[in-house]
Amino acid sequence: MYWGDDDEIYEINIDDLEGEVHERLYNEYLKVYKESVYQEYNEDTIDIFDSELTIADKVTIRVPIKILNICKVIQSKVNHNEFSILVKATWKKNILELTEDYIIPKQTVSSASVDYTEDLNEYKKQGYNVVIHSHPFKSSSFSRDDIETINTHFTASILYSVGEFTRAVITVPLNNETKLQIDAEIELYIPGIEEDIDISNIQIEYPYRTNKNKSRKRFRNNIHFY
Ligand SMILES: [Zn+2]
Repeated sequence: MYWGDDDEIYEINIDDLEGEVHERLYNEYLKVYKESVYQEYNEDTIDIFDSELTIADKVTIRVPIKILNICKVIQSKVNHNEFSILVKATWKKNILELTEDYIIPKQTVSSASVDYTEDLNEYKKQGYNVVIHSHPFKSSSFSRDDIETINTHFTASILYSVGEFTRAVITVPLNNETKLQIDAEIELYIPGIEEDIDISNIQIEYPYRTNKNKSRKRFRNNIHFY
């Protein structure tokens, strides 16, 4: 792969680059390549195909630390029984971000079940679209019952087990009679921490180990023959 910087062309062996640098360069390379391909087409045609859609092959669920702490506190209060809470969340592209807004619906619990004793539809209408329930033992899988009941009624379902979130799925309706449940990555975050920070004033020096010929030449120039 070749990458141009001003007038110089470096040969880049992308396998030599570390993960992040590799990815950044590869993305830039793809962008340039895509632009050069697009130039060959009529611009009206480009607009049709160049949609703003994000195509994702995975989903990440971000959970505020506070919700984790709340689960820890509730678990300690209900001893070795299950419990369930509902949380409001919003989509940001392929990331489902939970807020700190939660509710504990009326429920009867045992060591292996949660039975809601009120209608959850009202909460769903209010925007509580994520359900969290606990397994009061080390567990990272939903039960058959969970998959067929609790998981199907909410956008996302998260399993809490012994101090951590161990599994999450999102449910996507495919058609009137089919819903697809897929695993999602779980990520904890602290709301209020600014993440969209402009760092354009910071120049990062990447460890290019790419211009092998040049460095070899430089090396040769430093050798003195007597
Ligand atoms: Zn369960």
